[in-house]
Amino acid sequence: MGAARESPGGGVLSRLWVNVVVTAVGYFALSLVGNQMLPRDGISLLWPASGFAAVMLLWAPGRRGRAATIAAVAIGYAAFAFGTTEYGDAELAFVVANALEPLIMLPFLLRATADDHKLASLRGLGWFVAGASVACMASAVVATAGIIFEGSSAGAEALWRDWFVGDALGILVLAPLLLQARPIASLWRRGTAVEQVALWAALGGSLLLLVGGSEMSVVVLGVVVLIAVLLDTAAASLAILASSVVMALLAQHASVGENDWTDVRLLIAIVVLVGQAVSLATSARVRALGERDQAVQSALAAVRRSEATDSALRDALDAGLDAFVILRPDGDEWRVAFANEPARSPSGMGPDAVVGTSLADLLPAGLLPVVDGLLQRAAVSTIPVRTLSVVGRPDLGWHGTVELVAARSSDRQVVVTWRDVSGDHAHERTVRAASAAAMHAATHDSLTNLPNRMLFEDRFRHIVGGLSRSDDAVAVILTDIDGFQTIVDRHGVATADAVLIEFAGRLESLVRAQDTVARVGSDEFELILGGLTSTWGAADFFDRLTAEASRAFQTPSGELTLSVSSSYLLVGEPSTEPNAVRERLFATLRHGRTLGPGQTTESSDDLGLAALWSPAAEDIAAALRENQFRLAYQPVIEVVSGAVVGQEALIRWNHPEHGPIGPDQFIGVAESAGLMVDIGDWVLRQALADQVRQPPGTWTSINVSSAQLVRRDLVSDVSKALAENGIDAGSLVLELVESQLLHATPTTLGRLASLREHGVRIALDDFGSGYSSLSYLQDFAVDIVKLDRALIDGALDERRLRFLRWLADLAPTTGVTMIVEGVETSEQRDMALAAGLQFAQGYLWARPAFLDDGPEVASGG
Ligand code: C2E
Ligand code: CA
Ligand code: CA
Repeated sequence: MGAARESPGGGVLSRLWVNVVVTAVGYFALSLVGNQMLPRDGISLLWPASGFAAVMLLWAPGRRGRAATIAAVAIGYAAFAFGTTEYGDAELAFVVANALEPLIMLPFLLRATADDHKLASLRGLGWFVAGASVACMASAVVATAGIIFEGSSAGAEALWRDWFVGDALGILVLAPLLLQARPIASLWRRGTAVEQVALWAALGGSLLLLVGGSEMSVVVLGVVVLIAVLLDTAAASLAILASSVVMALLAQHASVGENDWTDVRLLIAIVVLVGQAVSLATSARVRALGERDQAVQSALAAVRRSEATDSALRDALDAGLDAFVILRPDGDEWRVAFANEPARSPSGMGPDAVVGTSLADLLPAGLLPVVDGLLQRAAVSTIPVRTLSVVGRPDLGWHGTVELVAARSSDRQVVVTWRDVSGDHAHERTVRAASAAAMHAATHDSLTNLPNRMLFEDRFRHIVGGLSRSDDAVAVILTDIDGFQTIVDRHGVATADAVLIEFAGRLESLVRAQDTVARVGSDEFELILGGLTSTWGAADFFDRLTAEASRAFQTPSGELTLSVSSSYLLVGEPSTEPNAVRERLFATLRHGRTLGPGQTTESSDDLGLAALWSPAAEDIAAALRENQFRLAYQPVIEVVSGAVVGQEALIRWNHPEHGPIGPDQFIGVAESAGLMVDIGDWVLRQALADQVRQPPGTWTSINVSSAQLVRRDLVSDVSKALAENGIDAGSLVLELVESQLLHATPTTLGRLASLREHGVRIALDDFGSGYSSLSYLQDFAVDIVKLDRALIDGALDERRLRFLRWLADLAPTTGVTMIVEGVETSEQRDMALAAGLQFAQGYLWARPAFLDDGPEVASGG
């Protein structure tokens, strides 16, 4: 986990010496080719080579790329020294001129690739083009000065032009071309047949016109570039390259005068430069997206290997939540190469029986047409394609929404995964996959069979989170049986249970099917009624509730009647948290009880409860100005030894009136008010300032919000803050959630890559809480994965252990560090240990706590 890591170029080019050798050989070969192709010996010897060097820098940014480039340039000189030239003693000037070029190019390239090493942004592209132009210009000037000093000023103008144009071609044409290099096979799948014909016809036409000596070829060539770029960047490159080479050859052999020759070459140069600049911009984007594809492919490769060797991986895939199928094409059909248990189970086929069957045998009937369409799209897409589909299984009395993802691999196989996403929430989904019965048990109260607190909270978030700005409202009601303990004491547990069961049924009869009644305490029930208008008839509802409670209950000890106390609250704000509401309802209930039993009380703000108060944007801005935020730290523990290896910074708001306020209560508001950049900046600087007071050798992680990620200055802000505090980048971890990575643009991903280049580590937070999918684990370059506490919550059985163990085993192969979050009990810790998970965080060891008072960073104004 040090600062050194593979560059995204990875693979063969990842080792320094391979890099140097590849560059040097390529460079030398290209110099020779360049020499052959140009009419005059000894000029522009380095033109293709300079492009090659630029590519190396882009492919392998940092030290490796620089070293490779320097080596390449040295070899270039050797080639130069042995070449023949008609310029005699000017050779020394030529050597200097050639040396100048990569040297000038280097700072520009470093700039261009600072936060975007693939030139995905216009900014990066701009630096690249500017660097190439300035470097070639300077180099050409020095060389020309050389021959003027030498006294042969006659050829000076031609030399300058050859030099400049030739070198610029080398950098601007060759670099993009190599960057775009990809299998020719994929080229023909781009565009429709008509588009392909149009491209090649236009290209052929332009060449004919050129041979005929018509100036119209300029126009036609422009069309070629446009079509080619629209079609596909690789096709564009090939077409442009082909046209430039043919034209150069034609021009050389045509019986045209020297001036015409120069014009032709200038023409080629302009066409190629424009075309390449455009195609470079598009190809960089395609490439960045393609990285995701690669990740899926490597997962695929792992699975394929596992067929022979690693049955544990198979088990893990079987225990996974997604149906997971690898398909290989067979004529017009798709045949199954591998299918995990969730994918096989509807068909009843075993792991071996399923191999080689057609897809139609495996899929639930309704899914076949959907998957067919998806496979067609996946076959022509460089990134995984996904779709949501509603499928009915009347035979099983089931219908639901299924999310499907398909990704193509390099060997034409396709991985398809699907899962049922009809459930409202992550918890329910996670548990359902474990088993339907276990899910029910985990989300329902065993006595009354009502949803429990956890399920209630999920439904709450779903319903309340979906509130729009209209005057929709949701009523949340807490109902508590008066004197329940007396019933238990006087009539015994059996009677009390009978009352609870009967009362639960009556409550359910009061509400509509879409409403939820949950048992949240021994005799406490919480209800959520959705889709109300603000004119909801509360009085009416509570009249009916009181009537139901006072109707006689048949129990083993005879008839009983009850009274209940209730409190309720109308919620209209989507970011309201269920816990805050519950606390408030309980407080209101206690308050109402002081007036006697059987009360119904509407909760209102004048109770002055901190938990209910929801801040406005101005309050948060003021808090930032007035230094009311604090950072609490929660240690990250090495499970075996109990040693602290790092800590996570968690923000707290120390409000002068409302007391300590947790992030859940204000981050939502701060985000929509655009305050997260300032808050995030404060967190970064405070956490780094606190670093000296942390246990020696530990790192600190901070949570980064999306608003910070999209900022252009992210990289420089972080580097600056590190430098100001004299903190090593290796001591800083940035935590992001999966959705931030999934929705990140290539530019943002470039920024993250660049931060990692500096040594800052990236953690994927809350893994397993939402849509986390196995296939995405390797998708993004992250250093740390934080397993959400949902993964270690609930039933800790053999199946769970196998799943966790599989995750833990991924750590060494993928190079990521796994941290389990939310470990509260020693059973959970033992589970983590048994699974081989090395690091954890949780209340079992420590709750988030403030450092003793010390230096503080002033909040920005
Ligand atoms: P998170 O990043 O997932 O942080 C972990 C949360 O789990 C923290 O809640 C922590 O107090 C809590 N926790 C830790 N151990 C246990 C445990 O054993 N059991 C249980 N039940 N909970 C545990 P907290 O501090 O309320 O933070 C909530 C969320 O607010 C964080 O979730 C994070 O998403 C966000 N947040 C906190 N600080 C910042 C910040 O400085 N910037 C940004 N952008 N977000 C922040
Ligand atoms: Ca976190
Ligand atoms: Ca987390």
